[in-house]
Amino acid sequence: IWYPLDELILDVLNRMDTRLQGRKVETHLPNQLSPVELDYVMIDQVLTNLLENAIRYTPAGSPIDISIQQHNKEVVVSIADHGPGIAPEEREQIFDKFYRVKGKTSDSGTAQGTGLGLAICRGLIEAHGGTIHVEARPGGGADFRFTLPLSNSGGMELL
Ligand code: ATP
Ligand code: MG
Repeated sequence: IWYPLDELILDVLNRMDTRLQGRKVETHLPNQLSPVELDYVMIDQVLTNLLENAIRYTPAGSPIDISIQQHNKEVVVSIADHGPGIAPEEREQIFDKFYRVKGKTSDSGTAQGTGLGLAICRGLIEAHGGTIHVEARPGGGADFRFTLPLSNSGGMELL
C-alpha cells in the first residue's frame, strides 16, 4: 500500500512511548512527503527494532533523533542515538544473524538479545528494494539509515 511514512513513524513512537525511559525523541519530518509503497507491518517492525536497540544500547535519558529525507528516487530514514556507537569493523557484521558486539553493552547481561533484530531489519528493507546500514554519528553514537524507493513517482502525483 501507499502509506505516509511520517504517520507510520508517529504511530510507532506513540506505541513505544512508555518504554522510552524519559528519552526525548526529536523528529525531523518534511512537510511535503510523498506516500511510499510499503508493507505497514514490516516497516513498523524495522522501526520498532531500531528504536528498541537505541533504547537498549544507550544510556537512559539520552535523546534519539529520527529524520526523513526525501530525494528524487528514494526516501532515507535515519534513527540516530548518542550511545557508544559501533566500531568501524563491526558495522557490517551487526547485520549478520546472531551477531552481537562483545563488551559491556551486550555481554553484561543487562542488555540481552538474540542478535536477530538487525538481520530481520535488513531482510525486510531489502524486500522493499531498499538498503540499510549504520554510520558513525559526528560527536558519538550510531546513525542507522535505511532507504525506501520511490519507484513510481509519476503515479504518485495523482494522490
Ligand atoms: P535482538 O534484536 O534479536 O533482541 P540484539 O539487539 O542483540 O538482539 P541486533 O538488534 O541485531 O541484536 O543488534 C546486534 C548488535 O548490534 C547488538 O547486540 C549490539 O551489540 C549492537 N547494536 C545494535 N544497535 C546498537 C546501537 N544503537 N548502539 C550500539 N550498539 C548497537
Ligand atoms: Mg536488537
